[in-house]
Amino acid sequence: MAEVLVYTDHLDGAVRKPTLELLTLARRLGDPVAVVLGPGADAAAPVLAEHGAARVLTADAPEFADYLVAPKVDALQAAYQAVSPVAVLVPSSGEGKEIAARLAVRVGSGLITDAIDVAQGDEGPVATQSVFAAAFTTTSRAAKGTPVITVKPNAAPVEAAPAAGAVEPLDVAFGPLATGTRIVSRSPRESTGRPELTEAAIVVSGGRGLNGAENFALIEALADTLGAAVGASRAAVDADWYPHSHQVGQTGKTVSPQLYIAVGISGAIQHRAGMQTSKTIVAVNKDAEAPIFELADYGVVGDLFDVVPALTDEVRAR
Ligand code: FAD
Repeated sequence: MAEVLVYTDHLDGAVRKPTLELLTLARRLGDPVAVVLGPGADAAAPVLAEHGAARVLTADAPEFADYLVAPKVDALQAAYQAVSPVAVLVPSSGEGKEIAARLAVRVGSGLITDAIDVAQGDEGPVATQSVFAAAFTTTSRAAKGTPVITVKPNAAPVEAAPAAGAVEPLDVAFGPLATGTRIVSRSPRESTGRPELTEAAIVVSGGRGLNGAENFALIEALADTLGAAVGASRAAVDADWYPHSHQVGQTGKTVSPQLYIAVGISGAIQHRAGMQTSKTIVAVNKDAEAPIFELADYGVVGDLFDVVPALTDEVRAR
């Protein structure tokens, strides 16, 4: 049976949801082989096995804790050579895209980034991308080598699919790049208790229509009733109403949740670039001509200061 390498994004063995989604996609192409690096790799194995990993290749070394991307590329390349996969799937985070790009160069393969779907085509694996502000959907395949594909969060459901998940240690020889960078310090962000913006199944975003930082409380209240993450347009971020780490769009984060609620956001192309692949889009805007309604599946034309509290109360009541 063909094997598919899946790069595991985890923190001390806690596997992040986008990796479990990759396992769902990988099973369409062959047997998933998960690669887990760094502290907690063994702890991640049972979760990966429950979601379809036939094998789990693990490696731990001080390099993974102390250094950045290069050692992970060395390890993924070692796994690639050990497995000879038909495809390599990597979560589409900033780090994931860097790892995938470096691996593709090293093994002479084609790279496809930010896929929203993966399938078996007539001539090998194909990936679907959404481009030009969702105006087109493209299907691509790698013209040479084994495709290395980064996949956006929420591209597929997480599915239970018990598999063997046999843990096998991976031998990694680190190259000179692996020792060229060192992390000097880490400063964890204060937790809001809300889901991570790029991984959340629901995102509620606020824009200039909120008319002030204090009114983001309305967005947060709706987000909390839905278990959602909070996003913001650049106009709201530039006005200092919400932190830049929450900006959605071309110069912010790309999100692809099941449900995206845009409140007081006009729908400029640069904002759309960051949320256009959301499965269902709801817009609340007092201007019926706002461009966001061209993209929205459901639109509410009305004053957000009336609509959002009513919506929050309604959701809370259910
Ligand atoms: P506006 O366009 O001002 O829209 C506000 C909306 O709120 C209007 O549609 C209005 O009808 C509605 N509204 C007002 N009051 C109410 C009310 N009481 N109830 C209901 N609705 C109301 N933007 C991003 O978002 N993300 C990016 O990453 C980004 N990157 C950019 C990169 C570049 C290079 C450039 C040039 C621009 C970028 N922008 C980005 C900016 C983008 O062009 C828009 O200016 C921005 O998205 C507008 O934000 P907004 O929709 O909140 O504000």
